[in-house]
Amino acid sequence: MKKIAVFTSGGDSPGMNACIRAVVRTAIFNGVEVMGICRGYEGMIDGDFIEMNTSSVGNIIQRGGTILKSARSERFRTPEGRKKAFENLKANNIDGVIVIGGDGSFSGASVFNKEYHIPFVGCPGTIDNDLYGTDFTIGYDTAINTVMEAVDKIRDTADSHNRLFFIEVMGRDAGFIALRSGIAVGAEAILIPETKTHIEDLISILEKGRERKKSGSIIIVAEGDDAGGAFEVAKRVKERYNFYDTRTTVLGHIQRGGSPTAADRLLASRLGNKAVETLLSGDHNLMVGQSGKEIVFVPFEKATKHHQEVDRSLLDLAMILSS
Ligand code: ATP
Repeated sequence: MKKIAVFTSGGDSPGMNACIRAVVRTAIFNGVEVMGICRGYEGMIDGDFIEMNTSSVGNIIQRGGTILKSARSERFRTPEGRKKAFENLKANNIDGVIVIGGDGSFSGASVFNKEYHIPFVGCPGTIDNDLYGTDFTIGYDTAINTVMEAVDKIRDTADSHNRLFFIEVMGRDAGFIALRSGIAVGAEAILIPETKTHIEDLISILEKGRERKKSGSIIIVAEGDDAGGAFEVAKRVKERYNFYDTRTTVLGHIQRGGSPTAADRLLASRLGNKAVETLLSGDHNLMVGQSGKEIVFVPFEKATKHHQEVDRSLLDLAMILSS
């Protein structure tokens, strides 16, 4: 293998740059040339390739977003789009590809691999932590720290005014961000898509708090909760229980940005490095992840088709500590 390419795809996440850096420098260390593909699969189809060297990844480990840009690509879902992508990889003499992204990006790589024999290895880059087979994805730790910092600030005003805050965090299909950040901020309740939300239970938690004269309460709501987003939950609670001055905050895209935490930089560095070594060893069509202290290898099909479960013990912990 003489030349490889790296690209970022799907939603951006903090730590993608640290991962690009690890890929480029590991390849160069091993005497392999590297190209960057800009704008994900869109750039692969358009031939948006750039040469990369040691200096092109200097001073990026601390930056959020991705220097290679990211995109979603409808064209890559079509055979014509993938043919064009293959032709561009061939024209640039690319022998292997590292994809940094989420489950959609790995599904795309998997489909591509069945049609064309260019090996792909993936690094899990998404704030959602919803990939099966890795404990954590690159960007997740930063996202929950961002939520924690924001909610700590909101807690100050909630306390001062005796207010009840409903705070919506990202997670359309999964409650990973809500659950861990909710425990970290000492939320009174955490509502996630994986569990059924009962408004009556929520009201009894609030009532208990009122009885012991709690000054302000925080309810964390994952955007995909079955009872609706934070605005809907707040409305349904207020209809039946109106003892609190209530406010609703949607944290939105601040959860995607910012400088990656040390944990994300380390994870990105380890996985980027291992992804290149894996490609060079001849393995492909798999994601490199981390389980406990170990680096693990998960076939794309498994990482995308299996469901990552939330840790039920954390749900119990949240319930005990908020009572
Ligand atoms: P995030 O988890 O942050 O949303 P993601 O990688 O899951 O990131 P997606 O938008 O789901 O983001 O997927 C990225 C791109 O992968 C899509 O825009 C599309 O180009 C490609 N892709 C996804 N699924 C397929 C598929 N079945 N066939 C071909 N390409 C696909």
